[in-house]
Amino acid sequence: MTSVASSTTSKFKHLFVYGTLKKGYTNYTRYLKHSKNLGRAKFISPAITVEKYPLILRPTNRLPNTRGPILMTAHQEDKSKWYHIEGELWKVDEITMKALDILEGVNRTNQYHHENIQVIHKDNNNIINDCTCYFYTTLGMDDELLKITPLLPSYDDKAHNEYKPPNELNTEILKTIYTDTITCKRCKQKYVNEYNTNKSCKHHSESYAGETKQRWQLPGDTDGSAEIHFFYSCCGNYDENSEGCHTSKHISYDEDDTILYKEYD
Ligand SMILES: [Zn+2]
Ligand SMILES: [Zn+2]
Repeated sequence: MTSVASSTTSKFKHLFVYGTLKKGYTNYTRYLKHSKNLGRAKFISPAITVEKYPLILRPTNRLPNTRGPILMTAHQEDKSKWYHIEGELWKVDEITMKALDILEGVNRTNQYHHENIQVIHKDNNNIINDCTCYFYTTLGMDDELLKITPLLPSYDDKAHNEYKPPNELNTEILKTIYTDTITCKRCKQKYVNEYNTNKSCKHHSESYAGETKQRWQLPGDTDGSAEIHFFYSCCGNYDENSEGCHTSKHISYDEDDTILYKEYD
């Protein structure tokens, strides 16, 4: 039997990301992308905050010297010099939020905490209320940070080039993201049963096999006819690691093979 995903995974919340979790950046690739592939996180659109906030890079004299972004709610600079912050609007489930809370040190080192903010969905200009965002906890405990400039309108490629992440992946975060996942018999990828749809599984419906060149040579052409070429019989793709040509639901190892092959009849 396929295990039933816990009901806590079904509650999605808006999350605004502005730093290393943005698409293509380090913590997206390391963590959020895994959630996205499992259906636990969905990119909605580029977004910008309704209010202005101070955003800085972690100063080099402060350990750990990651140069990561720090978003705050207070700063010595006048509020007119703060910026509406550019970032990305996502929808994430509770497991993903729990995993990202480990990354941000929420309730542990107390470095970051959640605040609900308003952002503008840049594809349709709608205002999204109650959007969770990670803010650095500074007030009363880290006043030196309130003097750091320059204030940034966004964490961009130039800023990210300075980022020095830890060398090791945080396996606790990845284990959390992969809570209650199942391995698919077809594509061998992990999936969440609750988010498994007819479009989730991309796989090749036939095998990756070798054939000699002779088979498709013109009569009389024997050049290299003994060479063996490997490709998927279904679509002719030569790349063994290519994305599948066929789309379906993921199938667990517990499910009957008659279900697995039924749709190719
Ligand atoms: Zn194929
Ligand atoms: Zn699959």
